[in-house]
Amino acid sequence: MHADAGKRQVMTIDDEPPDIAVATDLVDAASHARGFAYVPYSRFAMGAAVRTAGGRTFPGALVENVSLGLAMCAERIALFSAAVAGERPTELALVSRRTAGELTWPCGACLQVALELAGSELIVHVGDLDGARSSRLSELLPFGPKTVLSGG
Ligand SMILES: [Zn+2]
Repeated sequence: MHADAGKRQVMTIDDEPPDIAVATDLVDAASHARGFAYVPYSRFAMGAAVRTAGGRTFPGALVENVSLGLAMCAERIALFSAAVAGERPTELALVSRRTAGELTWPCGACLQVALELAGSELIVHVGDLDGARSSRLSELLPFGPKTVLSGG
């Protein structure tokens, strides 16, 4: 048996060509929202902004609580705000400090919520003061559970 047999080929986002343009205006909106983050415990301010099919923009910021499990991510606040306004998100931007030297992507919970409310074609932008990158939700959460609305 070959020594490499059984090894899986791993493709990371870094292997993908950058074919999605960064929406700098939406990243700027997320950066502005970041200024409203309530983060007395982690000091890790995060801001988000969602653009919808109707052309509206909804901000979000990380909001923590002394009961730590009650914290809510910036992305979900923006996604929920769009949903209760009857709007379907088409793009999501997230701005924060880097983690381990890399731009910070949305957490798994936020990706799952985004899949439910926006669908797998949602474009996700992440940025900081030094740069930004973009991807599709289908690349970030390729095997997410089907939603009730998708009939899966
Ligand atoms: Zn999250």
